[in-house]
Amino acid sequence: MARVMIECPNTGRMIYTGLNLSWTTFETYEIGESCIKCAHCGEVHEWSRSDAMLDEVGGEG
Ligand SMILES: [Zn+2]
Repeated sequence: MARVMIECPNTGRMIYTGLNLSWTTFETYEIGESCIKCAHCGEVHEWSRSDAMLDEVGGEG
């Protein structure tokens, strides 16, 4: 499993979206438009699948 992350447009830091997906699930997962309150800058960011990156947690499959 990997954590789905987006990049904060204001600080350039990564934000954990709360989703955990495997790479194969991520390929087909319907995310659509989502919003998240950013822990870094305090604003609400809209994001969609094309904004997301996977942060793989080593050794946990
Ligand atoms: Zn932000």
